[in-house]
Amino acid sequence: MSDEFIALSVPNLKGNELKYVTDAVETEWVSTAGPYVSDFEKKLAEYVHVPAAVSTQNGTSALHISLMLCGVTREDAVIVPTLTFIAAVNPTKYIGAEPIFMDCDDSLCMDPVKLKKFCEEECDFTDGKLIDRATGRHVKAMVVVHVFGNMADMEAILPIAEKYNIRVVEDATEALGTYYTEGKFAGRFAGTFGDFGCYSFNGNKIITTGGGGMIVAKNPEELAHAKHLTTQAKADQANFIHDEIGFNYRMTNLQAALGLAQLEQLEDFIKTKTANYNQYKEAIDKIDGLHVQDFRPGTRSNYWFYSVVFENDETGRDALIEELKENHIQSRPIWGLISDQLPYEGARTYDLVKAPWYWKRVVNVPCSTNLTSEGVDRVISVIRNFMS
Ligand SMILES: *Cc1c(COP(=O)(O)O)cnc(C)c1O
Repeated sequence: MSDEFIALSVPNLKGNELKYVTDAVETEWVSTAGPYVSDFEKKLAEYVHVPAAVSTQNGTSALHISLMLCGVTREDAVIVPTLTFIAAVNPTKYIGAEPIFMDCDDSLCMDPVKLKKFCEEECDFTDGKLIDRATGRHVKAMVVVHVFGNMADMEAILPIAEKYNIRVVEDATEALGTYYTEGKFAGRFAGTFGDFGCYSFNGNKIITTGGGGMIVAKNPEELAHAKHLTTQAKADQANFIHDEIGFNYRMTNLQAALGLAQLEQLEDFIKTKTANYNQYKEAIDKIDGLHVQDFRPGTRSNYWFYSVVFENDETGRDALIEELKENHIQSRPIWGLISDQLPYEGARTYDLVKAPWYWKRVVNVPCSTNLTSEGVDRVISVIRNFMS
């Protein structure tokens, strides 16, 4: 069997990337103005079936702007997951607000049952404001992450947000291409349910611009405001008049040239991801003590990341990662809980049970769109030998 290195998740740039980027260089449109930026915004919006989108430098800045436009201030609190990448949580602190860390369910996304219980039992709802009794803070927004491309339970989460007047930022950075196929939301894409939806095109995401992001929004005026804030809040561009504290968060034409070429291939990438997922799932679910985590029924997932779960045992995780590494295969544990990290010491948490359980038991295995079926077989055979 080949001994070639298998990476966890790397870019796949075999389409029109070089052609479009070369064009951007040759036409000397390399910065934040240029036709690829608006073209990529338009095509991305079309892809997720919304009227418009606004590009950003990365997913983190998309989340930052979105939370600001939810009206979150330093007096407020924001409900966030603890089992996620830290970029979903940091923007709350950029604003100076405080996070409330919520548990996940078996989808690895926010648990709507606990969310509801928290609102009912820990908070008072008066004058249209949900107040966390323990801190006196107004719970103004929540960040819902579609973990590893799996749709969070929007059917359950949205009515809770509505009832308690909590604004919703969807962190769809991992879930571009995931949509409901059944139920009342059939045809609706991850990122298009909340007040704001954020995407990322970092190097390991399903499509990449090197680094980049995108915002979509329910309210077109708020989306226009997002664009204003990402471009230094220019009120009168010619005369350098600014009417707010803005940011330099806009994507460059070079990035967007890559993005456009990547978007053309997104559906093919998802096909490969799906086939590889099914191959892993079929084999690994037969191994005693392991399974591959499911994606939500009634959705078409983008199958971004695959999670192998140790069902009975928390000692296997690091040993398997080590074993894979010795076989030149890159893997990783799921994220350390954000509420356990140094910058969040002492932060408000609510009934965290499943998140710590999964944290100790998940190994993410290679999922690049360059990964061949033979590659998947090699990973499976290392895992099988490890478990026998
Ligand atoms: C990648 C990611 C982000 C941040 O995106 P960047 O483009 O890297 O800034 C935010 N949240 C989650 C869940 C992510 O996986």
